[in-house]
Amino acid sequence: MKLFEHEAKDIFRAFNMPTPSGGVAMTPKEATERAAEVGKPVVVKAMVLAGKRGKAGGVKFADTPQEAEKFAEEILKMRINDLPVEAVLIEEKLDIEQEIYAGITIDRNERKYVVIGSAAGGMSIEELAEESPEKIIKMYVDPSLGFQAFEARQMAIAMGFKGKQINQLGSFFLKLWKIVEAYDVELTEINPLILTKDGKFYAADARLNIDDNSLYRHKAIIEKLKREPVDQNERERLATENDMAYVELDGNIACICNGAGLTMATLDAISLYGGKASTFLDLGGGADAERVEKGIEIALMYPKVKAILVNIMGGITRCDDVARGILAARNDGDITAPIVIRMVGTNEEEGQEILKKAGIPFLKTMEEAASKVVELVKEVA
Ligand code: GDP
Ligand code: MN
Repeated sequence: MKLFEHEAKDIFRAFNMPTPSGGVAMTPKEATERAAEVGKPVVVKAMVLAGKRGKAGGVKFADTPQEAEKFAEEILKMRINDLPVEAVLIEEKLDIEQEIYAGITIDRNERKYVVIGSAAGGMSIEELAEESPEKIIKMYVDPSLGFQAFEARQMAIAMGFKGKQINQLGSFFLKLWKIVEAYDVELTEINPLILTKDGKFYAADARLNIDDNSLYRHKAIIEKLKREPVDQNERERLATENDMAYVELDGNIACICNGAGLTMATLDAISLYGGKASTFLDLGGGADAERVEKGIEIALMYPKVKAILVNIMGGITRCDDVARGILAARNDGDITAPIVIRMVGTNEEEGQEILKKAGIPFLKTMEEAASKVVELVKEVA
């Protein structure tokens, strides 16, 4: 679950991390009020779950509350990265001496957290990573040992800071680590962490992604947010609601299977025959007719779909149930693309009988089914 910048900053403040003063506004009028409360030039920022808002025109500087109102009106109408702007954040404009990058994420290959810092933060951090990787400092953290205060200071030193700034910046990294631990964070970034002309550090931006699988441990913060995790589209939301594993891909073949292993193998088979899947949909164990129907309905909501491949290994799941689900989906008009079915296992014959009677063709092997569905896509395209 991705948090909005203002939500992430609420957590930062709870851990005593300095952030610029200000607040959220839902309307241009509220933006004027927030700017007047700040009482100096402000930055008006788009609250949207997308990065690079600065480059997209979603971060503007206003000298007066009237100007803040005008920018808020503009920004509230914007879409960034195809998402509507939900609100604006009005914050005091800091006097920048230096823009710093600070982040923590998980390195799956190392099986560790990685703390990342750079004295050259700001909007072009990705280019910096490519052009001058030596300017990006990384420290790996063993999750069972955690990140220690002395390591946080080492981080600041490695980034080129001296004197009392070592402790000040070190303390930012340590707090960021405490937040990562407390909220099962899989990615957090402060970019920029601003060092002001009068020598203070502030988290000027905040990105915080919580591991979805840990949300049951963080009910309190979710309740406080008073919103759903909105970074799911309609299809992803429906799949989560129905407890199905669902991932959208770039291709055009909706792949509906049971079991993650079989689903992966089916994607491989499709790719072997020169096709590309649009959807990884794992119905899970013991799928009944209703579940199969629901799965087809969700997968077909994705506009990229040109053909469907249902591949089921009957175990606890019964092939006759699957056949009934497919039939129901067809009778409801949900099957809006050519469909290929392969199913084997429990009640295979009964299932095939149902399909046969309904005039729905099916195939015996995964290879046949995958090559057939790829052929069908070529015909429709
Ligand atoms: P992002 O583009 O979505 O990452 O949005 P940011 O919040 O990082 O803002 C983009 C850029 O605006 C930053 O890299 C800064 O250069 C600038 N910026 C943000 N806040 C301030 C501020 O308080 N004062 C000044 N002078 N610049 C700021
Ligand atoms: Mn940023």
